[in-house]
Amino acid sequence: MTTTNLLQFDRAGLVDWFAGHGQAAFRARQVFRWIHQKGVADFDAMTDLAKPLRQVLAAHAQVSGLPVIAESRSADGTVKWLFDVGQGNAVEAVFIPEAQRNTLCVSSQAGCAVNCAFCSTGHQGFSRNLQTWEILAQLWHAEFTMRRELGLAAGERAISNVVMMGMGEPLQNYAALIPALRTMLDDDGYGLSRRRVTVSTSGVVPMIDRLAHDCPVALAVSLHAPDDALRDRLVPLNRKYPLDELMAACKRYLDFAPRDFITFEYCMLDRVNDTPELARELVDLVQRHHVACKFNLIPFNPFPESGLRRSPAGRVEAFAQVLLDAGIVTTVRKTRGDDIDAACGQLAGEVRDRTRRVIRMAREPALSPPH
Ligand code: SAH
Ligand code: SF4
Repeated sequence: MTTTNLLQFDRAGLVDWFAGHGQAAFRARQVFRWIHQKGVADFDAMTDLAKPLRQVLAAHAQVSGLPVIAESRSADGTVKWLFDVGQGNAVEAVFIPEAQRNTLCVSSQAGCAVNCAFCSTGHQGFSRNLQTWEILAQLWHAEFTMRRELGLAAGERAISNVVMMGMGEPLQNYAALIPALRTMLDDDGYGLSRRRVTVSTSGVVPMIDRLAHDCPVALAVSLHAPDDALRDRLVPLNRKYPLDELMAACKRYLDFAPRDFITFEYCMLDRVNDTPELARELVDLVQRHHVACKFNLIPFNPFPESGLRRSPAGRVEAFAQVLLDAGIVTTVRKTRGDDIDAACGQLAGEVRDRTRRVIRMAREPALSPPH
């Protein structure tokens, strides 16, 4: 008989599952806390549960994380885990310690179908969506591994922020994403505030609207270009949801969800999207659409097949200055963990591409900077 992995549920889902097995809602809440607040997987170790309930759980359920294939540690304290998700696929999560916060970067898919020109996950093609339990298993493993390692007292949390910026496009895996986000926010789960959980998207417009209703966490939008012609080439999804529609969705998100700003991510590519003229166009774009925003400029992290280069630091600074002069808060992302290939866009895992990728690539010529 197959058993159900209880990492699959948010609290409401667990209450339903318990009801289906004749168990009270408050019992579900107890078990939810054992799992997500204490990292306990063994039902016998859940000492405040009555024995008959433990027997029901042992017969029908399990709490199982993902097998870890590898753990790498960077000189700067960044830790990367490679998790086995079966059938030749693996995904990565990255723990990034900073003075004021510890952030976990989480994957949502094995591979990614969006196929951005500068992203190594995109270059691998798409295999499948992760299930809720596979998304939460990354956080569960990282939280309790780091709690032990940092020697934290009971009740102290190792991870203060989660960013859905690992492998995959989270808004193309919406159904699995929402219960995972709700568990991160739940006071009986990880207890993170909405502004400390960030969904990063390449711009799946209808799902931005749904997120505003279902779970309005912090939103980061990967922009990378101020006009449709350039964005079409860098982020192919732009052909489906062009910039005007994307900007309007950002505006609606801010109007509906109680959020103060959108973070726009912009990957700085040498002589592709990094001139001061393009920075001025960006200012114009966000002002025209009245989107309150911050910019996060990400120096491109190269990988062999991209044919692209990182913008020189001086060009990144000049670009940032144009945005700053227009009164837009702008930061340049520090590269972390690049000695273990854990930096943005370097997460490759292992992906068995199940799309007809060779044919697709033949139709879309590679993008390369002018020489
Ligand atoms: N699919 C989502 C989230 C994962 S990518 C998205 O695209 O937003 C997370 C961030 O890393 C995105 O802003 C993406 O543009 C950026 N990124 C991807 N490849 C990169 C690379 N090679 N160098 C720097 N940033 C990269
Ligand atoms: Fe997918 Fe994001 Fe990479 Fe684009 S940048 S291919 S959307 S993971």
